[in-house]
Amino acid sequence: MSRILIIEDEVGIRMTIEDRLKAEGYEVEVAEDGVSGYERARAGGIDLVVLDLMLPKKPGLDICRDLRGAGIVTPVLMLTAKGQVMDRVKGLRTGADDYLVKPFQMLELVARIEALLRRDRIKGGASEAKVYAFGDVRVDSKQAAVLRGDEKLQLSAKEYQLLLYFVQNPQQALSRDRLLREVWKYQAEVSTRTVDVHVGWLRQKIEDDSRKPRWIITRHGIGYIFDPQERS
Ligand code: CA
Repeated sequence: MSRILIIEDEVGIRMTIEDRLKAEGYEVEVAEDGVSGYERARAGGIDLVVLDLMLPKKPGLDICRDLRGAGIVTPVLMLTAKGQVMDRVKGLRTGADDYLVKPFQMLELVARIEALLRRDRIKGGASEAKVYAFGDVRVDSKQAAVLRGDEKLQLSAKEYQLLLYFVQNPQQALSRDRLLREVWKYQAEVSTRTVDVHVGWLRQKIEDDSRKPRWIITRHGIGYIFDPQERS
């Protein structure tokens, strides 16, 4: 059974959500302020966080950003007040997966939660125990390891995530914006230049000649395309 953490200081809303989710069969934990909510989410064992934006002690945006910064990928559904358009954009940029505007129908909240949990399960299932191979490179997504021949390559976390995204999306033109969105999750202080820099580093590790790449190919005006097919 999925365990959901509700971080919301308004007692009425918190209890309404808690009761409804329990009635739907979810395990529910609650936090009444930002600091305790953040610490609970960070401790792990939570499948989804319902996160209010305006919270005492630590605002929702900071919670989301710090969770993602700590490598916590638990889905976050943000609750925002009507008219906080900028906050919604910022929320998605700091790594929230979806948002709902208050006041909302409980039915819609439940539907969004189900969709996020389903999406998360599909992601987890797809990346389970899979090995991708091209040329003499093997990407083992279960062990998060990349081998070239018998040698284990030393990749940074972002290089690995970027390579994994390429191998999971072969032969597709991938724009820099899409890579930023999918790999960097709208992290602050990254630009499309960051993508190019990381592609450069990856090429040095997986290509025979990084100036004449055969796996990660530049598509001018678009971005990159990963082509795992052998060419003679
Ligand atoms: Ca609030």
